[in-house]
Amino acid sequence: MTSTIDHPDQFHAAVVEEFNKDLNLKDIDLPEPGPNQALVKVLTSGVCHTDLHAAQGDWPIKPGLPFVPGHEGVGEVVKLGPGEHTVKIGDLVGNVWLWSACGVCEHCRTGWETLCDNAEYGGYTVDGSFGEYMLVDTRYCAHIPEGADLLEVAPILCAGVTVYKGLKMTETRPGQWVVISGVGGLGHIAVQYAVAMGMRVIAVDIADEKLELARKHGAEFTVNAREVDPGEAVAEYTGGGAHGVLVTAVHEQAFGQAIKMARKNGTIVFNGLPPGEFPAPIFEIVFKALTIRGSLVGTRQDLEEALDFYARGLIKPTVTECKLDDINTVFDDMRHGRIDGRMSIRY
Ligand code: NAD
Ligand code: ZN
Ligand code: ZN
Repeated sequence: MTSTIDHPDQFHAAVVEEFNKDLNLKDIDLPEPGPNQALVKVLTSGVCHTDLHAAQGDWPIKPGLPFVPGHEGVGEVVKLGPGEHTVKIGDLVGNVWLWSACGVCEHCRTGWETLCDNAEYGGYTVDGSFGEYMLVDTRYCAHIPEGADLLEVAPILCAGVTVYKGLKMTETRPGQWVVISGVGGLGHIAVQYAVAMGMRVIAVDIADEKLELARKHGAEFTVNAREVDPGEAVAEYTGGGAHGVLVTAVHEQAFGQAIKMARKNGTIVFNGLPPGEFPAPIFEIVFKALTIRGSLVGTRQDLEEALDFYARGLIKPTVTECKLDDINTVFDDMRHGRIDGRMSIRY
């Protein structure tokens, strides 16, 4: 089947042309889908803190300029690449951080495609969803479940899959304590996955309104790390610390604090990616036999599972609608911690 839809030659997008400067709202050329690709008319997109890191050039590996950020985009397939048969015109799909992987390297072969050395990243190495059109690799794109609210499902494509995988990596079992440190876009969804997975949830942040959101989504106990020592508060409340700690915060201070919040034999998983370092007390790590590991988004299988939790009504992201033209204000609010849940662009 071929498309009967007419496509413009150009489309409106938010483009990073210089790091640490406002994004430029301008018209750019419509890309042509190649093999294993489809052109997608974007309908909604979440705004992840990673997009802000990308636009600021925060990380050691920087995206090439210019680029279009955005990796929580949901839209309709409007054109297929040559020989395409995985998706069809009209399908609702999404772009993700793991935009594509090679499929043949050691990491891909062993179920760790997120670590592929030849991966492409949505809104980073490949233009993303902060524009009216985008390309997806049909082997790696998200398939949006029927009946999904398109503003609400967008954050599942990065925030959701990342924390769902991160929680699995904490190896916390039902009935055990898990701390969610940082209750932003990722963290408020992490609270919900943890509850759905049968864990007992403690939320830590530095803003009272974030902690209120965490309680609304099922956290039993919350700690404002600006007011009290979160390590002491968590140890006292749980009688020895949490079995798992998931750090989604955007300040390095939270990473050091995780060590004190963890129970003996506990597992700490880092999702947050602020540039910087944190102090790691060797004695405490050894004597508590802690595991500390990083976790990067999730595989296609993790994504399917994360979307299935959403489709079954177990996860309901708190989203606020915005427009693409608001992106610079949204980034400014994100920089200052003024967003509750996730901002979601409607096109
Ligand atoms: P966000 O801006 O929505 O939320 C950040 C939260 O951290 C806010 O609630 C803020 O109040 C809180 N915070 C700031 N300082 C804190 C502190 N000292 N202690 C506790 N909480 C603190 O950001 P987001 O979109 O949720 O992303 C969070 C981080 O995760 C970013 O660094 C992002 O790049 C990263 N990320 C990683 C992956 C991955 O695969 N590992 C995927 C997506 C995002
Ligand atoms: Zn993201
Ligand atoms: Zn690979």
